[in-house]
Amino acid sequence: MEKLIHSLLEHIGEDPEREGLLKTPERVSRAWQDVTKGYHEDPNAMVQKALFEAEGHEMILINDIDFYSMCEHHLLPFFGKAHVAYIPGKKIVGLSKVARVVEVFACRLQVQERMTAQIARCLMENLDAQGVAVVLHAQHLCMMMRGIKKQNSFAVTSEMLGVFKDDSKTRAEFLTLIQEKPWN
Ligand SMILES: [Zn+2]
Repeated sequence: MEKLIHSLLEHIGEDPEREGLLKTPERVSRAWQDVTKGYHEDPNAMVQKALFEAEGHEMILINDIDFYSMCEHHLLPFFGKAHVAYIPGKKIVGLSKVARVVEVFACRLQVQERMTAQIARCLMENLDAQGVAVVLHAQHLCMMMRGIKKQNSFAVTSEMLGVFKDDSKTRAEFLTLIQEKPWN
């Protein structure tokens, strides 16, 4: 990877041998390993290891999970917040694991729509939940820095499975809850 970055620097018209850039290939290589570490992690196993018996069947919502991902079309970051809810069947999962599942899928090359669906399906299948809802709000640097330069636009994607898809009341409750902020 370091060779590639060295060559990339030349291709954009830089001098990879100048002092400020000498260690850049090494640094970029480490940064890329970090932001793509999700390829070496198994989100299914992660959830399976943290399952507990459910005691109720009320909605469990984890709001405002920060995430950072890389768009597969431009290799530029997109980042924002994930809102994830589920209605348990027989199992629940440790709350922190939901955020970890978001992180694993974020740390792969992504398009926002697929990432949303992957998070929802992973939880639905491993929890055997009655329903899962995922909404992602994100800003894409590939839109903000280049091309159409839509500086402040957010892309919003959602995936509704099970009762969130079939029951409009459950879906409406989720959509209301994710707009409520604890400090309001
Ligand atoms: Zn892009």
